[in-house]
Amino acid sequence: MSSIFTKIINGEIPSYKVAENEKFYAFLDINPNAKGHTLVVPKEEVNKLFDLDEESYNQLMIFSRKIAIAIEKVIPCERIGLSVIGLEVPHVHVHLIPLQKMEDIQFIKKVKLLPEEFEKTAKAIAANL
Ligand code: 5GP
Repeated sequence: MSSIFTKIINGEIPSYKVAENEKFYAFLDINPNAKGHTLVVPKEEVNKLFDLDEESYNQLMIFSRKIAIAIEKVIPCERIGLSVIGLEVPHVHVHLIPLQKMEDIQFIKKVKLLPEEFEKTAKAIAANL
């Protein structure tokens, strides 16, 4: 069965898309730690980060860096944090999270955003790529 992220990539489930190329898809996390929390996913459905081949791993980091630089232009924050977990969705994804304090990377406190705020944030990040 396809992962939820494969369904998002294929457009079967909606997402607030930030960027896409032939290998990767970036979109806003639906339950964000902070406004601008973005997930970067390889289209190839691989479970664990370190199971990616070296080239895909490097390309994922290069693509994630571009997205992180765009997020930082749009969301006021101290810096962008990067985390890879995958305990909920077993399809590789990089979390890019605007940080003000350590709590923001701890997946404890969540922020609620309206659909129009998600929409506006995704468009603003995309416009700064
Ligand atoms: P992890 O697997 O790294 O522990 O967490 C999975 C992340 O994916 C969570 O932050 C969760 O909010 C996010 N997520 C799970 N399902 C969906 C979804 O259907 N759409 C979006 N945009 N994010 C999701």
